[in-house]
Amino acid sequence: MKILVINSGSSSLKYQVLDMDSETALAKGLVERIGLPGAMLTHHCINGEKEVMLADIPNHDRAIQLLFEAITDPEYGIVKALSEIDAVGHRVLHGGEKVTGSVLITPEVKEAIRECFEFAPLHNPANLAGINACEKLMPDVPQVAVFDNAFHQTMTPEAYLYGIPYEYYEKYKIRRYGFHGTSHKYVSQRAAEMLGGYSADFKVISCHLGNGSSISAIKAGKCLDTSMGMTPLEGLMMGTRSGDIDPAVVAYIQNKENLTPDEVNEFLNKKSGVLGLSGISSDFRDLQIAADEGNSRAKLAIDAFAYHVKKYVGAYAAILDGTDALIFTAGLGENSPSIRQQICSTLGFLGLKIDPLKNEMARGREMDIATPESQCRVLVIPTNEELMIALDTKEVLRKLFGQVIVLDKEKGPIYNNRCCV
Ligand code: ADP
Repeated sequence: MKILVINSGSSSLKYQVLDMDSETALAKGLVERIGLPGAMLTHHCINGEKEVMLADIPNHDRAIQLLFEAITDPEYGIVKALSEIDAVGHRVLHGGEKVTGSVLITPEVKEAIRECFEFAPLHNPANLAGINACEKLMPDVPQVAVFDNAFHQTMTPEAYLYGIPYEYYEKYKIRRYGFHGTSHKYVSQRAAEMLGGYSADFKVISCHLGNGSSISAIKAGKCLDTSMGMTPLEGLMMGTRSGDIDPAVVAYIQNKENLTPDEVNEFLNKKSGVLGLSGISSDFRDLQIAADEGNSRAKLAIDAFAYHVKKYVGAYAAILDGTDALIFTAGLGENSPSIRQQICSTLGFLGLKIDPLKNEMARGREMDIATPESQCRVLVIPTNEELMIALDTKEVLRKLFGQVIVLDKEKGPIYNNRCCV
């Protein structure tokens, strides 16, 4: 079974084709600058070679048409015809309150995605554009939506409600939703597999630390709390996002700097976080180099980031009543021993102790970096959102149509002798 995974952004589109028998990527690629001059598609083949195609790409329809051409290309493609693709899994940022899991895309699901445009103005319209383009170009192939907030729908009202008048929740659905759900789900499942499976009391704190960062408290595979909120702006300080601030700061800056609400939103999302604090970069590699060269603001930004992560770990340890494992994932969490060391430095109260050598060795690969006697495991787990989306897509189809028993090259997948489309 082959599944195409699409992560469609406003001006970019990432894709992967996965073989679900081996659960590996056959090809992956990125379309950049959709609707802009200098648009291009970069396609990575199974043999590691890279093809770059410059093209006029005015919209998502054209981007998807080009990716279809790339994956069916006789030279560097991985399928002979599109009919070999059994399903498409779409990453969708915001599904609001209605979604509790991944679903087959129907007109109602598309309406739910549209209803969340206001909460996710950059992501949801782009996600829907990707879905519409696929539906148009491969109408017989099942499409599944995998929502970034779905994993967090197990939170209870005391975790997801804000301390504002209840009618704003009722009228506008203002509440915590949480994001990076696919990543938190994937790494918490891997942690359970690495440590011998789920028990009713298996507790993890999962730290997704990248350009966007969030932390989740997870018990027996269910999310109890997460740091991002109604939008991905809340929670940890991030590359360019402020994370938690006193809400009064918004109106204060608006008045002082004579800014519109949209302008404040823009600077909290794009000019804040470690970029705003350091005045140097949103990239932790640049910050580390600058800090090593003695730049005090770069050091301050790194220290503040690590401090915020630590504060959330402490809060979530309180909610979970301890934790069996602390997980580090995403660009920074997977690759930076120094940030892991800094975060773990005062977590001894959890019985947690990391082995400096193992911490140094764990760069972008799965590893338990705690000492043997540590009472809390510390796991570095590279996230794989595309595989999680593909697994969810396969599972949605299995639940709807039963096990795939025949893969018909002409008609696509046949489930329990019934063609699924
Ligand atoms: P995104 O949220 O864009 O998906 P990623 O998960 O790719 O972000 O993480 C990107 C961030 O990870 C970069 O901004 C950089 O700060 C950090 N990062 C990546 N590799 C390293 C590394 N080797 N050492 C330190 N930081 C790294």
